[in-house]
Amino acid sequence: MEIRISGVSKYYYAEGKTIKALDDVNLVIPANRIFTLLGPSGSGKTTLLRCIVGLEMPDTGEIAIGDEIVWSREKNISVPPEKRGLGMVFQTYAIWPHMNVFDNVAYPLQVRGMAKDEITQRVAETLRFVQLEGFERRPATKLSGGQQQRVALARALVAAPKVILFDEPLSNLDAKLREETRKELRAFLGKLGITAVYVTHDRVEALALSDSIAVMRAGQIVETGSPQKIYFDADHRFVADFIGRANLVPARVVAEEGGQTVVDCALGRVACQRRAIPAGAEATLCIRPEFIHVMNGEAPAGQNMVNGRIASLAFVGETYEAEIHAGELQLLARIDPDAGLAAGDAVHFALAPAHCLLVAQ
Ligand code: ADP
Ligand code: MG
Repeated sequence: MEIRISGVSKYYYAEGKTIKALDDVNLVIPANRIFTLLGPSGSGKTTLLRCIVGLEMPDTGEIAIGDEIVWSREKNISVPPEKRGLGMVFQTYAIWPHMNVFDNVAYPLQVRGMAKDEITQRVAETLRFVQLEGFERRPATKLSGGQQQRVALARALVAAPKVILFDEPLSNLDAKLREETRKELRAFLGKLGITAVYVTHDRVEALALSDSIAVMRAGQIVETGSPQKIYFDADHRFVADFIGRANLVPARVVAEEGGQTVVDCALGRVACQRRAIPAGAEATLCIRPEFIHVMNGEAPAGQNMVNGRIASLAFVGETYEAEIHAGELQLLARIDPDAGLAAGDAVHFALAPAHCLLVAQ
């Protein structure tokens, strides 16, 4: 089910101050895909999710789920949360510790007054789906973090929602379990094929899970696109910087030549992936560390060739992270542990225009 958000703003009033948590958000969340709201803490992700669910009322705008308008200030429509046909998984799971697995999952059906037999059957089906068959009588407190997560998922799914929403559901798990649970969740959601709205501040989680990502900052949607588009081809400096490690170099556009946009910057003249930016305009050149392939010695003359010196190397497991002095710049690069390079070595690298991304200031 598609979700359409138009002109939604939301203010909070606290300690005599007004906080603009959402600032004229316009967004279409496509049906039957995993859509992620990604942004730093305080950017408005939870507020937007709570507005969709109906736990928060916007101050302006309209929200529609499928064909139904669930909120409109102008039309005076406000559908209560339990009538919106949604399932939600919270950051803290909100699992009831005094109940067993069955009762936790059955709860949404019991409050609807569903017949006992049907509840038993639905809960069994849902627990089978999240691979917790046989755990019905287990007290909620006797589950691992990953299992609790699956109970929360089962409870959100048991009433067959049209849309499922998640607010940072993996943030309480340790790194290894988070990765496993993320893969599991991706598989569950893939099988279900319903609309999923997922909130996180973790860029790796967003990249690995999503069909589409909307990046938020200060109550606004900055940019929306596929994980690949957001990572390799962002339009905004903020997005390029937030979604991955990036070297950001101030640049001035010189000309468009042979399908590339040429800029001047502290690395010299650099041919970049083509962007419709007029000559003379300022932009930021974004180069990801993994696209700086460092080689020993001085560069042969040529376009996009840069000379530098390794300032420092840090071993991080699969690679070295190197700081490279190039002119007045410090660039972050990745270096293969087998390359035999050390701090102080003179090096050079060639920048592939396809990986020289120009973003708006
Ligand atoms: P995120 O989920 O991206 O971290 P939130 O939606 O929780 O962001 O918060 C957006 C902004 O609104 C922040 O500045 C936050 O401090 C503020 N805020 C959120 N909830 C409340 C509230 N109940 N009362 C006052 N301010 C709030
Ligand atoms: Mg939040």
